[in-house]
Amino acid sequence: MPRIHKLSEALADRIAAGEVVDRPASVVKELVENSLDAGAARIEVELREGGRKLIVVVDNGVGMEREDALLALERFATSKISDADDLHHIETMGFRGEALPSIAAVSRLRLLTRPPEADEGTLVVVEGGEVKQVEPVGCSVGTRVEVADLFYNTPARRKFLSSVNTERGHCHEGVLRLALARPDVAFKLSHDGAVLLATTGKGDLLSVLAAAYGSATARQFVPVHFEAEGFSVEGYISGPRLMRATRQHQFFFVNTRFVRSRSLSHALTQAYGNLLPVTRQPVCALHLRLSPEDVDPNVHPTKIEVRLASEGLVHDLMVRAVRRALEAAGLRAQPVESMREDREQEPLEAAGRYSLGSRLRVSPVADKLDVRDDGIGVYAHPTRFSEPREVRPQERESLRLTPSDESRSDTPTALAQVGLRYIVAMIGKELLFIDQHRAAERVLLEKLRAVERPAKQFLTLPQTLELTPSQAAAVAEHSELLADMGFDVERFGPRGWLLRAVPAGLEYGAPEQALVELLDELAEWQAPASQEARAEQARTMVACHAAIKAGQRLSKEQMQRLVEDLLATSSPAVCPHGDPIILTLSDEDLDRRFERPVR
Ligand code: ADP
Ligand code: MG
Repeated sequence: MPRIHKLSEALADRIAAGEVVDRPASVVKELVENSLDAGAARIEVELREGGRKLIVVVDNGVGMEREDALLALERFATSKISDADDLHHIETMGFRGEALPSIAAVSRLRLLTRPPEADEGTLVVVEGGEVKQVEPVGCSVGTRVEVADLFYNTPARRKFLSSVNTERGHCHEGVLRLALARPDVAFKLSHDGAVLLATTGKGDLLSVLAAAYGSATARQFVPVHFEAEGFSVEGYISGPRLMRATRQHQFFFVNTRFVRSRSLSHALTQAYGNLLPVTRQPVCALHLRLSPEDVDPNVHPTKIEVRLASEGLVHDLMVRAVRRALEAAGLRAQPVESMREDREQEPLEAAGRYSLGSRLRVSPVADKLDVRDDGIGVYAHPTRFSEPREVRPQERESLRLTPSDESRSDTPTALAQVGLRYIVAMIGKELLFIDQHRAAERVLLEKLRAVERPAKQFLTLPQTLELTPSQAAAVAEHSELLADMGFDVERFGPRGWLLRAVPAGLEYGAPEQALVELLDELAEWQAPASQEARAEQARTMVACHAAIKAGQRLSKEQMQRLVEDLLATSSPAVCPHGDPIILTLSDEDLDRRFERPVR
């Protein structure tokens, strides 16, 4: 008796199914990819019980003839490639001809499909890989696949499925990836009747992000457009307020295929440099285009990891692309490693390396989402979207001396304070509305960053403080840090404390108030392990608490100085927390508001 025999086809299929299908989300992915390959413009996914009970995928793609529908359910049957050469320029998502038979082997599957030219459609019913029924039916153009009772005949696998919530989450994530991959296709995902995601299919990636994360969040994205050396990247990265604890929200697509890539994630981290708080990760949806020869999608059956031919080059181009996008948004990243040197080489006064316009812009696209047409942009006027221009110091001088050329003037004039919170200033043809607290915070932060150890400014009259036990404990615990920052606090009698010195630049305002607030925050602070991160967080806290507050009346001189100092910083447009500091209203905006015909 020979001991080796061939497995029955049904058993072979069931084993193969394990590779392609391991949970509802992989079924959803394979079916939706088929719909995309079929040229669908609209794809609906319905789930019951996290997909364990039922998965339905409906598309309006090319559909299948009766014979094709039957063939599609056989292993290695595909319409997408026919010879080995085709492997080198695959443009479809699938090509192995394994998905449908694998899914059919481990579920009860119904396939309804009709090509546009056919008068009627075909229904195929398969159970555990066995075709039970084939008959003509009336149905709409396209394909509907229903997968019920996944793994009903492989109990061991069924046992490995997670909770409804977990499986639903995986399905949701999978559909989101595909929706971000293809903004030109309208997706709808629902679970037990509730819609989880719905996109318009109008081709706009930002609107898919808005559908996924909400429009308020989407407004915090910064656009990326970059092209060089046969490589292009388009998409969105998060502004500084939109950071997450993990890299789960980083979506990279190579030639519309979702990929996970350490190298690309690393490029992102590197590009953000010091804009990235330690332990936080940016969010992104970025589409890379590479010539197909540079990509080998055939590495893994589920094709999530791709191999890039010139990974190092792509990494470096990615860093450049992201840096440039951040700069264009007024966010100047400095590499974390060389932050200290950069600061020393480049004192605050010389920070005007880019034209002012380029440093004011944040996210032009957000306007597209914002349906409230209040005519006031957080973002500078699009005429400014030119390449950042190097402005030499002499040139800056000469700009100052020619006020007649008002559109190029770099000198702001503070005009008034509104509601004790906002400063109105004029620069060129633009009115700036500046949040005084955020502006002061930005200025202070850069001052504190500019030096290793802020100078101490001794107060003419030391201030007595009464501290709560937790504030007093914070003084004790963080005495070194406070001293490093320029604070001089000492014990005075049994309950009192004496504030003798504050970091230079903080002496006006209410330094004791700033210190007390800082101590409250320090009392609850989870200090990060790295020295550099600790110092940066401490600076941010000091800047926030010591900055001029809303409600504080400012003299004309104070306003003028604050506006000038603000515009001299590297990122005048956003405060350290990522909120906008400046809103602008240009003469053209005014024309629009007055409905004056465009000149
Ligand atoms: P692959 O996608 O690798 O070709 P599948 O098993 O996923 O293999 O699908 C087999 C074939 O069935 C495809 O090549 C395609 O011709 C056809 N097919 C599958 N799903 C659809 C669909 N939604 N619309 C039209 N044709 C489909
Ligand atoms: Mg397929």
